Amino acid sequence: MAGLALYLHIPFCARKCRYCAFVSHPLPGGGAGKALVRDYLRALRREINTAASLAGRQVLGSIYFGGGTPTLLDPSDLVSLLEEIREHFDWGDDIEITVEANPGTVSADGLRLLRDAGVNRLSIGAQSFNPEELELLGRIHGVAEIYSAFYAAREAGFDNLSLDLIYGIPGQNPSGWRAVLEEAVALHPEHLSVYGLSLEEGTPLAEEVAGGRLQACPEETQVALWEITGSLLKAAGYERYEIANFARPGRQCRHNLTYWLNRPYLGIGAAAHGYFNGIRYATHGDLKTYIENSLRGRLPRAWEEHQTPEQERTDTVIMGLRLTRGLSRSAFRHRFGYSFEDVFGEQLAVLEQEGLMEENDEFIYLTERGRLLANYVLAHFV
Ligand code: SF4
Repeated sequence: MAGLALYLHIPFCARKCRYCAFVSHPLPGGGAGKALVRDYLRALRREINTAASLAGRQVLGSIYFGGGTPTLLDPSDLVSLLEEIREHFDWGDDIEITVEANPGTVSADGLRLLRDAGVNRLSIGAQSFNPEELELLGRIHGVAEIYSAFYAAREAGFDNLSLDLIYGIPGQNPSGWRAVLEEAVALHPEHLSVYGLSLEEGTPLAEEVAGGRLQACPEETQVALWEITGSLLKAAGYERYEIANFARPGRQCRHNLTYWLNRPYLGIGAAAHGYFNGIRYATHGDLKTYIENSLRGRLPRAWEEHQTPEQERTDTVIMGLRLTRGLSRSAFRHRFGYSFEDVFGEQLAVLEQEGLMEENDEFIYLTERGRLLANYVLAHFV
């Protein structure tokens, strides 16, 4: 996996989903929305320029358009952003270029345009195959749109497709979840990301649960859904290579591996995060501030922090342990100049005794139970 990773954030959505706490803004209709997108695209191009002049002409190993809803933009706008990137960066031979796609916002022509421009991976936000759950989540699409987006993507030549799914939705039970997974697997995606629903403060869904109008999925049900996920996807030929991510052999998401291996990446766009030259940073989330700063030729950063060796070590451990194969002892020693046990020997011994971690000659990793209790386990290394 050679080359720098570049993340580009598109912070617009058709409307806000009822569980969403991401930085995304419903795009106003008519002229106001068009003007906002135009200004935002200008700001993005400018930031690509500014970032490239500081980073130098790097070789990119992956590009990831995330959101928000990148596919809410006209596909030709995404293509022109890729052209801008190409002017300033070299592309690695086997570059992975992903676009997050909301099934309610794609067309066959648009997907063909993206594919022809070099996009070679789509991450489709299906979330569920149950119409009532999609409704409860406030998604803008139904089940039929997931199918048509998926088939249109195949038709356009995408041979690397990922589906996002959410479990732990209020009212969900093991047989309903099994049906959702079976429907997803029947489409034969190369990759699946399966996240537990997080009830984020301030979202309509969290408020309904807090107000007693909806019942959160009980913890024991969530554990049952997690276990079904692992066994069903394994039986279908998917390897869980990260806590929430499953892939067919060779189809792991290379861009996201950059994060888990704590390698550098550039984050471009409002509310993007990056890690480059030993500095971790976030750009302005407020669109107006982001656009103004970027168009003035400044790096539109809301904050940045030079990483101390201890911070780098902590991030490397807590991100690396999310991977099923675990943390490489030799890579750790090479990066920090001492062994994992030199610093975390005690924690490792305790967690091994609790049956939450294991090790072999090369890797230190979480057990199946350790992955289920990942937050508890990883807190030992912060
Ligand atoms: S599509 Fe994604 S980013 Fe947009 S509102 Fe829904 S969950 Fe949030």
